Amino acid sequence: MGIIDSPQNIQNPLLEWFRINGRYWIPWKLKKDGSIPQLGESISPYEIWIAEVMLQQTQLKVVIPYWKKWMNAFPTLTSLSEADLENVLLLWQGLGYYSRANRIHQSSRVLLEFLGKNSDQDPSSWPKEIDLWMSLPGIGRSTAGSIISSAFDLPAPILDGNVKRIFSRLLANKRHSTKDEKKLWEFSSLLISTVRPRDFNQALMDLGATICTPQKPNCSCCPLKNCCVAYRKYDPDDFPEKKMNKIKPIQEIGIGLVFNDKGELLIDKRLESSSMGGMWEFPGGKKTSDESIEKTIERELKEELGIVVKVGEKLLSFEHSYTHKKLYFTVHICEWISGEPKPLASQKLLWVYPDKLLDFPFPAANTKIISELHKHCFIGNNKP
Ligand code: SF4
Repeated sequence: MGIIDSPQNIQNPLLEWFRINGRYWIPWKLKKDGSIPQLGESISPYEIWIAEVMLQQTQLKVVIPYWKKWMNAFPTLTSLSEADLENVLLLWQGLGYYSRANRIHQSSRVLLEFLGKNSDQDPSSWPKEIDLWMSLPGIGRSTAGSIISSAFDLPAPILDGNVKRIFSRLLANKRHSTKDEKKLWEFSSLLISTVRPRDFNQALMDLGATICTPQKPNCSCCPLKNCCVAYRKYDPDDFPEKKMNKIKPIQEIGIGLVFNDKGELLIDKRLESSSMGGMWEFPGGKKTSDESIEKTIERELKEELGIVVKVGEKLLSFEHSYTHKKLYFTVHICEWISGEPKPLASQKLLWVYPDKLLDFPFPAANTKIISELHKHCFIGNNKP
């Protein structure tokens, strides 16, 4: 362990810091009556599991209102497993990375089978083995460790982004290779307190969120500064090495809004196997290099729906950024000329009045279109 001679040199000051500075208000870390769980006392694995998956790509302050809404709508594993995927996606709308919602829904059925009906309210019947949690879709080693330590106060190590940063600085480890990752996992396993594992892991997360931040860590207030190699010998900001931001490729997308005689709008449900599977969207697709955006819309609607349209007025265009790419959307209102719409590249189609669109789960980019469409239809009193 080098400069860190014994786990207690980290555990003791960190746990003492946590006793005074811990974020004890995080709702899923508390008992149903709002009190802090005692050492070794179990709390709801269901509530923690949902929160941990929401936190995988999203900040705590964004997650909390979503988690509260979720617990109102699906208060138990049984209620979640019986829910329609569409209602689950509707609740997830705005959190992004929708495959997480799909996977939670799939996992709820696997877990219920494991637990048996009516046992899901009893934390002691839930799995406590890391491998079992990791066998569920969308659960990695750190998420599994966090669920087990938070719910059951068992010593399961974690290595999320915050913890990785703290360990990289404590050890002055710059790189991100598989070998380095293995080393950090070993460090996490060595360090975890067997007496207060729940508090220890939470203390690491709280330290990473409030003191050992990505930029300008507040080292003078850090309980670990005496054993932190990056602080003692270097500039902590240099650890771990920053990953180069790759330039995201940009792809143009043409979207066609098709109305029928009743003023209803055509929407389609994405294939279950696709990204954002099960969500609704407006028809359209990628522009090829040699065509205009109007031609793209005509072609895509012919290929996806089997209909012929005349592309009319442009409603809006905007850029939307994803993790690895940017999409530039151009949305036109179209006149439906011929053909009966068929779901040639989707699960199903639906004609919907514009004021009912918000009853369906749409990816974030499509919600921009809806809000512009509502202005166009209702504020501009310009019904297509
Ligand atoms: S001393 Fe600074 S760099 Fe080291 S763990 Fe504490 S906050 Fe992070």
